[in-house]
Amino acid sequence: MTPLQMPVVWTERHRGHAPDGGYWLGIRLPGDEEPERGDTLRDQLLAAGATLVDAPDLGVAPVLAVHEAAFVDCLRRAHAQWVADGHLTDPGQPQVVPYIFAMPGFAARARPDRPPATIRAEIGLYATDTLTLIGEGTFAAACAAVHASAHAAALVAGGLPAAYAAVRPPGHHAGPAFFGGSCYFNNAAAAAQHLRDSGVPRVAIVDIDAHQGNGTQEIFWARGDVFYGSVHVDPAAGWYPHFAGHADETGEAGGAGATLNLPLPPGTGDGPWLAAVQSLMQAVSAHGAQALVVSLGVDAAAGDPESPLQVSSDGFRAAGRLLAGPRLPTVFVQEGGYDLPHLGPLVLQVLRGFEGSHD
Ligand SMILES: [Zn+2]
Repeated sequence: MTPLQMPVVWTERHRGHAPDGGYWLGIRLPGDEEPERGDTLRDQLLAAGATLVDAPDLGVAPVLAVHEAAFVDCLRRAHAQWVADGHLTDPGQPQVVPYIFAMPGFAARARPDRPPATIRAEIGLYATDTLTLIGEGTFAAACAAVHASAHAAALVAGGLPAAYAAVRPPGHHAGPAFFGGSCYFNNAAAAAQHLRDSGVPRVAIVDIDAHQGNGTQEIFWARGDVFYGSVHVDPAAGWYPHFAGHADETGEAGGAGATLNLPLPPGTGDGPWLAAVQSLMQAVSAHGAQALVVSLGVDAAAGDPESPLQVSSDGFRAAGRLLAGPRLPTVFVQEGGYDLPHLGPLVLQVLRGFEGSHD
């Protein structure tokens, strides 16, 4: 088998994020975005002959490049304040869990200069669900995922044709000042911003995760320099993120027309899914992008427990070939994918399809 040509940017720092589940409909469920997921992916990549590159510590700068400072600061302080407020014993909760949410009407009198006095309330300014818990090592691990993604972008900006950031936690549901859906900071957005800051005038993000990347969409919603396109299961059919991802969401102001959503019905398989990927790539070319970031979720796979799409292993291989079509410098950033025995193999199908491997 031909070894993977592109470097895989990796960091052991992901292990600090171990939420041990989350609350869905008020019930604590076992997690599927735990350290085991990252380690399994690493082992599968190494077994396939991949070359791992360690992500440097880039501090908070690449996070602040795509997120509001007050939000980043809140996540940085959250767990320590949770501990200081006594919640390890009262009520006996080791992770930061929001219980109240600053909805636009409810929080109409909230003021940036008067943040809530407790972290259990303040976190409600930014949390979108109870599934996305914050532990002692979450902030550092989420920063590390951004570091790996920005470093992959730096390698590509430096002349490599492609690089892959094999990161967790994922990022595409994290917006300018909100987190949720197992995402804290937006890794793909940080990669795209790094490319912009490296002098690439126009960048495109193509998101093939089964779920729409509402966070990425919001970060670039009014910007024309970064295109965002996504194929995903239709939120109107009852799927996450529920409030975004409809076909009529196309951006506004300077970003009008620079967002493209292609929702598909539950049960969709290779044919229509690949046609949508092809449409996204045509839009990338029409946008005039000079570099590409791929939000590489593989949870659209038929065997994945988190989505009803039915894409095959061969379908992912074909998607990789389509992503290579415009021959753009390309940064792959890991998003979802929860069928662990097949996580690395499906990712490798995309990357090998992209590289034109024939085995
Ligand atoms: Zn997903």
